[in-house]
Amino acid sequence: MNVEIISVGTELLLGDILNTNAQYLSKELALLGINVFSQMTVGDNIERLKRCFEFAFKRADVIITTGGLGPTTDDITKEAAASYFEQEMFIDDESWEKIQNKCIKFSGNKGSIPQNNIRQAMFPKEAIIIPNNNGTAPGAIFEKNGKKIIVMPGPPREMKAMFVESILPILKNGSGYIIDSKYLRFFGIGESALEIKLINILDSQTNPTVALYAKEGEVLVRVTAMCNTQIECDKLLNEKIAEIKNICGEYIYLIGGDEISSSQTELDNVVGKMLVESNLKIAVAESCTGGLVSSCLINYPGISKVFLEGCIAYSNEAKVDRLSVKLSTLKKYGAVSHETAKEMAIGIAKNMNANIGVSTTGIAGPGGGSNQKPVGLVYIGIYINGNVYSFEKVFPGDRRKIRERATREALNLIRLQLLKSRS
Ligand code: AMP
Ligand code: MG
Repeated sequence: MNVEIISVGTELLLGDILNTNAQYLSKELALLGINVFSQMTVGDNIERLKRCFEFAFKRADVIITTGGLGPTTDDITKEAAASYFEQEMFIDDESWEKIQNKCIKFSGNKGSIPQNNIRQAMFPKEAIIIPNNNGTAPGAIFEKNGKKIIVMPGPPREMKAMFVESILPILKNGSGYIIDSKYLRFFGIGESALEIKLINILDSQTNPTVALYAKEGEVLVRVTAMCNTQIECDKLLNEKIAEIKNICGEYIYLIGGDEISSSQTELDNVVGKMLVESNLKIAVAESCTGGLVSSCLINYPGISKVFLEGCIAYSNEAKVDRLSVKLSTLKKYGAVSHETAKEMAIGIAKNMNANIGVSTTGIAGPGGGSNQKPVGLVYIGIYINGNVYSFEKVFPGDRRKIRERATREALNLIRLQLLKSRS
């Protein structure tokens, strides 16, 4: 199958935005073994876009467009595709209903639905309408005489989700092969460090293909096999995953999930599940993360079986009063220290008679740092079954990022301690 990508939008031509959609799609299609011989970028102009369709169909059977599905009159991609295939557009009642509901949800007010949004609900009867779960503009597949134009929205978040959820399965089916992917989620190693470790695999990849994606604070690796049967696919995937696990298995916290589920939720789920399965009771005392660790654990349904208490002990007084941290410890080592983190973890565990106590204490900034204790310095304490550990980390980023990273680090440390206690 030959596919051509057409990026629609005057702002792309003016250099106002970077064409990340074309990059994403090219990479995805290459991994599927689909040929992309050319790409085009065109402004918001019906006649020029139609001429692009004409060019592209000389060398491709499928065109994928992104952009130009907005409600305003400069968004013309569907009009151009319909006109090119000489198809008439009508209001699709179901789409219009959905768009109105989304507008109401967004603004809370029915009177505020802009009537030009109705353009986003117009399609030819011959088109297949593709739902957009992250925005108002549905996508669509226009088709005539074996030629297809797949139109997707411009905003990368909407486009990627639509591609993964709806377009990818269609392309996979159309390829005549079974194409299957598995996802490996890595924590505690950056993209470039992981790339170096996997360099031989990456350089020699054919089938399965292996692709790295940097996500918030972690890396996702996708392994994709293309075979005649599912059994062959499974075999290739399992062999490649075993090879990867051999090289850097200690960083993998999950094999599974999908590409668009957020890394945060996956880690919450993995740790929540492990805790419930272990039946070890947990209590959390948080300073710099201010409840985020507790909140992530509570994201996991069923955590009530083991989660006892989350305490935000932000001030020194709270650390002393609620967690029995010694004043002398605070004076001698400071609130942000191994010693305080350990005493906080022990304190909350003892208070609640928990098997596991977790604590965080750090400098989230922007002020308050020093040479010895820079902004981003965080200590995470873990008390588990009578032993107490503390871990020192320095996170980059602003206050919000530091707090989020510390939270994820704490979750991962709980995971590692649980693994250790199992073996
Ligand atoms: P549009 O549907 O053309 O109005 O695009 C809506 C928004 O999506 C634009 O303002 C951009 O922020 C984004 N966008 C559109 N096309 C692309 C592209 N090719 N790459 C990255 N972002 C894009
Ligand atoms: Mg536009």
